[in-house]
Amino acid sequence: MFDNLSQQLDRAVKNLKGEGRISEINVATTVKEIRKALLNADVNFKVAKEITNDIKEEALGQKVLTAVSPGQLFIKIVSDKLTELMGSTVVPFNPTGNPAVVLISGLQGSGKTTFTGKLGLKMKKAGKQVLLVAGDVYRPAAIDQLETLGEQTGVEVYTERENKNPVEIAQNAIEYAKKNGKSLVIVDTAGRLAVDEQMMKEIEAVKAAVKPSETLFVVDSMTGQDAVNTAKTFNERLDFDGVVLTKLDGDTRGGAALSIRRVVEKPIKFISTGEKLENTLDEFHPDRMAQRILG
Ligand code: GDP
Repeated sequence: MFDNLSQQLDRAVKNLKGEGRISEINVATTVKEIRKALLNADVNFKVAKEITNDIKEEALGQKVLTAVSPGQLFIKIVSDKLTELMGSTVVPFNPTGNPAVVLISGLQGSGKTTFTGKLGLKMKKAGKQVLLVAGDVYRPAAIDQLETLGEQTGVEVYTERENKNPVEIAQNAIEYAKKNGKSLVIVDTAGRLAVDEQMMKEIEAVKAAVKPSETLFVVDSMTGQDAVNTAKTFNERLDFDGVVLTKLDGDTRGGAALSIRRVVEKPIKFISTGEKLENTLDEFHPDRMAQRILG
């Protein structure tokens, strides 16, 4: 195990004081500790480097050198910087349209279908008439899984088991939604174990056909560096509107949040923290995630 950033900074600052005079060189050493801590929290190397350079400049600008407790000031600067880089404020999820359509994308196993179920429940509780759409035409098990989630949450699920065309299924589902007074349609889509051209073409076609008000990209926060690359590829193809980070209930530090936000410049909208459906889906709060990354 590694120390959390606060402990590392305390140590680094003790070293600073030990030298009697705090210099730019000592600040550089402390900044290196910060970089190490960010890497330990799974922040992408390039992103960690950029951030620590920013922090260094800010630290020098804010007169850390002459502060009474430079360690505390350092921690505040780092925490503020991380919060700012993750967007500072909560970005509301507010799909529009009649019905509003939300498209869910991501790799297989990222937690897409589970998230679709959770979001359906959350929106139902918020007073929406929700329809979930089983758009994974390759895995009958995925359709079963969504139906089970629908039964558990009391949210209707639209399926066409014999149809292998996800564009048609999504279009038909929207027609069905209009006729049946639904205000929100959430379309789950097929994922693959790795990014694949056919999957991308297919989801692009679904997006073009249903013109969602929001396209969300779901990613497993435990996949570390891969999460950033996957996010980049999906964003290039889909130009998604927001990110959902799943599996944050494990001991992952959440560095993926920072890297993804920095690399794709799209807001993180939700975090998912468990396999249960109730109370495991929250809006993303940049300040809380900054604390988590700091440890
Ligand atoms: P999909 O292939 O992207 O649709 O992924 P699934 O929704 O089937 O999820 C894959 C696995 O991850 C399942 O076993 C889920 O129960 C699990 N899972 C999904 N979201 C979370 C989460 O937030 N935390 C944890 N611990 N497990 C999750």
